[in-house]
Amino acid sequence: MELNVTGRSVLVTDGSEAAVATVSALLREGADVTVAAPTVCAAVEDLAHRGLLTWVSTTPDGSSFDVVVRAAALRRPEPAPTPEDRTGQVTLVGAGPGDPGLVTVAGRSAIEEADVVVADRLAPWEAVAWASPDAQVLDVSKIPYGRSTSQDEINRLLVEHARAGRRVVRLKGGDSFVFGRGFEEVIACAEAGVPTRVVPGVTSSIAGPAVAGIPVTHRGLVQGFTVVSGHVPPGHPKSTLDYTALARSGTTLVVLMGVRTLPEIVTALVSGGLDPATPCAVVADATLASQRVVRSSLAQIVDDATAAGIGAPAVTVIGAVAGLEP
Ligand code: SAH
Repeated sequence: MELNVTGRSVLVTDGSEAAVATVSALLREGADVTVAAPTVCAAVEDLAHRGLLTWVSTTPDGSSFDVVVRAAALRRPEPAPTPEDRTGQVTLVGAGPGDPGLVTVAGRSAIEEADVVVADRLAPWEAVAWASPDAQVLDVSKIPYGRSTSQDEINRLLVEHARAGRRVVRLKGGDSFVFGRGFEEVIACAEAGVPTRVVPGVTSSIAGPAVAGIPVTHRGLVQGFTVVSGHVPPGHPKSTLDYTALARSGTTLVVLMGVRTLPEIVTALVSGGLDPATPCAVVADATLASQRVVRSSLAQIVDDATAAGIGAPAVTVIGAVAGLEP
């Protein structure tokens, strides 16, 4: 971004997929972003829900903003026709926790060569701007407890575009195979005879703690780490985790999708025998401009995270490593 927008108010008069890369770059630069559009794509709606930008449905007076980015500047053309003899394929790109600098070189090449980019809410949308101006961008964000594209529909889109001979990039946050439903998409493509390629990504389960200065292992302190989903709480009929075993595992515990269920998780771990004084940290919006870190103990983490206004997405790390100082 060539303009200095830090601390400036910026109005963007487009909320479609074409605008998300620009909006994400503005947020990274610390701009105060307002999106004015009667309807917005799910990724923009999610940023509004998370309090990272303001969404208004009618266009306000541009003169009250420092910078105005008009829709016309963002329009992407319809996809170019693809040669009929080309075999399409789907490349699953794990694109890291949010900072586009954490997309791998292989991931970036795949994006640059893509005809279609199918992106999630937690994918680094600034990386979508690396796609060719002719590439089609589809937002299939699943907003927790909100608007979403079903997995069946996502699978269908991947297969349909690949069968039309297009190079499809499926862009996901973190690593596609860590709670990313990536293998469901690999299966759907295999069933449809569509070739797939997997570009591994930097997972938030390791990178989230790391950017807060917390190693998931440390020689002499802990000999492993366990990554779990907190999506369903302990005791829930759909939970298959043994929290007593986790409490006794002697490994660092890393919880994804566990902001809402953290109180139940803490209770289950303490009942399982984990010391309430165990160091604990929550890292929210890791690698984004809005990153926040709360360091606490197992006993206090819920209160401290609530007081700090922590919301999803966040990674919780539980274990002696969370108390390490260099
Ligand atoms: N495939 C992803 C995880 C998808 S599940 C990966 O490997 O990172 C979604 C969960 O990931 C969120 O609920 C949160 O726990 C975590 N997460 C993803 N991005 C994050 C970020 N930037 N900061 C903190 N947690 C993040």
